[in-house]
Amino acid sequence: MQEDLEMLLQLQVIDYDLGELERSKEYIPDMMENLKREMEEIARQFENTRQSLADSRVALKGLELDVNSKQEELKKLQNQMMAIKTNKEYDALVSQIDNVKEAINEGETRLLELIEKIEKLELEISDFEKKAKEIQDQNEKQLTILKEKMDSVGTKVRMKEDERSNITVRIPRPIMSTYERVRKNRGGAAVVPVRKRACGGCYKALSPHVIQEIKRHNQLITCDNCGRILIWQNGVSE
Ligand SMILES: [Zn+2]
Repeated sequence: MQEDLEMLLQLQVIDYDLGELERSKEYIPDMMENLKREMEEIARQFENTRQSLADSRVALKGLELDVNSKQEELKKLQNQMMAIKTNKEYDALVSQIDNVKEAINEGETRLLELIEKIEKLELEISDFEKKAKEIQDQNEKQLTILKEKMDSVGTKVRMKEDERSNITVRIPRPIMSTYERVRKNRGGAAVVPVRKRACGGCYKALSPHVIQEIKRHNQLITCDNCGRILIWQNGVSE
């Protein structure tokens, strides 16, 4: 019986590993998807900032040309001042000059704003570039590891299944069926050690008589509350 219980414990470890491998088929692709999404997101932010910077530079060029031509216009108008003959002509010219000056002022204010925006974008873009490279490097490494893991799941499952059948053929059928039943009903551990004189699965206290029987190891003892198979483990059960 002691030997059967030890095999059950080995079986339980194998079944736990098999469960983890099955779960990894779900969560590894999820993790890979998240890493890819993160890389796409930073690349998208980088691209948006790059585009915005390019647009702002084009706008700056246009605005500079605009302000320059207004300044040319102003010079011409100021030269016309010399040839003024009437008060009426004078008033009209002054008002034209004032309008151009105002347009130049507005243009120069927008130029300053645009230059400030470009400087900010240039800082942002170098931050994004650094961050994108870091994320790219980190995530590529993790993706390689996860891909290797994913590729090896099938092989690992087959190895564990072989190990499992090597053990199950040696375990007496009634013990095996108790194990399978408890595992199905309870999920997870079907074999639990006694802990502080109670069932290690549901924590129900065990009578001294039951504990004696568990210690004797000559029959399969299950918890009368949760049905789990109970074992005595020195160092854990006392
Ligand atoms: Zn129990």
